[in-house]
Amino acid sequence: MSSKSRGFLAAACLGFLGNAAAADRHLFEAVEPHMGTLVRIKLYADGALQAKGAFRAAFDRIAQLDDALSDYKPESELNRICRTAVARPVEAGAELFRVLEASQKLAAETDGAFDVTLGPVIRLWRQARITNRLPDSALLREAAGRCGYRKLHLDPAKRTVMLDQAGMQLDAGGIAKGYAADAALSILEQLGIRSALVAASGDLAFGDPPPGQRGWRIGVDSIDRPEAAFNRVLELSNAAVSTSGDREQHLDIDGARYSHIIDPITAMGLSSPITVTVIARHGIDADGFATAVSVLGPERGIAFIEKQAGASALVVTDRVVESARWPAPMSHARAPRAKSH
Ligand code: AMP
Ligand code: MG
Repeated sequence: MSSKSRGFLAAACLGFLGNAAAADRHLFEAVEPHMGTLVRIKLYADGALQAKGAFRAAFDRIAQLDDALSDYKPESELNRICRTAVARPVEAGAELFRVLEASQKLAAETDGAFDVTLGPVIRLWRQARITNRLPDSALLREAAGRCGYRKLHLDPAKRTVMLDQAGMQLDAGGIAKGYAADAALSILEQLGIRSALVAASGDLAFGDPPPGQRGWRIGVDSIDRPEAAFNRVLELSNAAVSTSGDREQHLDIDGARYSHIIDPITAMGLSSPITVTVIARHGIDADGFATAVSVLGPERGIAFIEKQAGASALVVTDRVVESARWPAPMSHARAPRAKSH
């Protein structure tokens, strides 16, 4: 592991860097609201007609996944299963099952730092962000009693889901957007479009590079330090990158900032600033890993990433720590350059 202590506090963000020359050829771009955020797709197509059909198919695919995986929509498959699978196995659709399986694997590998059953606690923190008050500690304790990944049972042979007790609530918010980005990219590929990227907020998945280029250029920058040395440009293709942090969703109380990411041990929002960027082959992994590493913190988080074939991470707290392979896979670090905000 190579680590660099730079003695500053920074948040990383991902930004697209323009590509004017290629845009003159066949670059198309569209944005739609899905999964509680804006989803942006860039692709290279033969013409506007092909691009339009491709955008529709990709966005429809994301909407379909949201219908299955959302915990906001009362009639989503995920929410229906929370109601029906108490103490009895209920068959799940292939996609929900895939996401739950990946979540449980990640929970087991991170000692429960990533936990897809945290819904009851997450809902209290969501409410707290609206009322601007910390969740009541007795309510938090009660909600935490209805959480725990060991109370969620999956049977891959029968593709069934079972929950140990009533009042459990699954929440795939830490992993679903990365999976949706993967799925949208696959649809584009099936339609013959290989040079594309799908960005669901901080979760991005990349297909082949733009024509004639080595990759899609992405800036990972630290807002507090715009100088070149603190900013990096990556070129990514056939890979995914996710960033988790508290920049967009948090609760500020008495000088403390509580993240929307929960430490399952305390049922509290993370209160030490941390921003994690993970590169992996697939979005489902990059997304889940970034959330998990946020909970694990720099040391345990980087140790976890080092064990994941084909993944790498950049963790920013009051210092910057890179995993040994950062920014692998399938990416080429370029000369850093400054960006203004
Ligand atoms: P992300 O932006 O991908 O890091 O996901 C954050 C979201 O994941 C939160 O808004 C919650 O819905 C969910 N979440 C929060 N804490 C955890 C956790 N410890 N494990 C799994 N999911 C979590
Ligand atoms: Mg995530």
